[in-house]
Amino acid sequence: MTRFPHHMTLELTAKCNFRCPYCYCVWHERPELAKPELDAAGWKRILDKCAADGVDEILFSGGEALLRKDLFEIIDYARHAMPEARLSLFTNASRLDESMIRKFKRRRVHLAASLQGLRTYAEMTGTRRSFRRLLAVVARAAELKWPISVSITVTRANMSEAADIFAAAALSGAKSIQLGPMMAGGRARTRPDLMITRGEWESVKESIRALPDGRVPYSFCDEFICECRTDLPDALREKWRDPNHKPCPAGRDFGAIGPNGRYRTCLHSL
Ligand code: SF4
Repeated sequence: MTRFPHHMTLELTAKCNFRCPYCYCVWHERPELAKPELDAAGWKRILDKCAADGVDEILFSGGEALLRKDLFEIIDYARHAMPEARLSLFTNASRLDESMIRKFKRRRVHLAASLQGLRTYAEMTGTRRSFRRLLAVVARAAELKWPISVSITVTRANMSEAADIFAAAALSGAKSIQLGPMMAGGRARTRPDLMITRGEWESVKESIRALPDGRVPYSFCDEFICECRTDLPDALREKWRDPNHKPCPAGRDFGAIGPNGRYRTCLHSL
């Protein structure tokens, strides 16, 4: 069996209460990758292997991991099996509240959330929700001294407000901010109209760099496609390949386990 790399993402469920048009989850292309979902006992076996293989970073994600009723049972098991590991959870934050933030803080589980838009939040999440609740949660987490990292996916719909989204996250107390363009994978494969060009992405980056220094660390992810995927049509690969692409460390430095317990080399690979 594959020895796990030191950084693993565990996709605890394919279920999600959002319908983001840019969603990269691979089961939107290959539903069998999400079925059947592992129960808590299955995840504990995976965590035992993580501990045995010396994994030192685990990111819990989904889908929306907070939809799992047994989430804290799994997290507590992970903390017990790997007392020194860095544990994090990625969430759309729709179910995150103060008591939950306190529970994560007690367990030393770092939090990251996606902020998909301001004016465009409903469109970008496929819901009727407003961004306001999420920013309030980010602000409360900062007050509780357990600040949340924010991730922003830039699409043709929210591109014009990308700098405003960034500023809103920074002013609300985000711990750090990561931005990247929508990638051609998962559900996003059905919405090529939402993808921005490389030139537009560079303009977005410039607009972020031009903002007054908010003392919030931030980073850009420049990928438009997962270049490891061998099934990509040539036209797609040609259109989006990165001329400066370096060999990807997927499978060596990091890996992922899907909702059904199957190992993949990264979130975007099959
Ligand atoms: S991107 Fe995240 S929040 Fe949006 S539909 Fe996919 S899993 Fe859910």
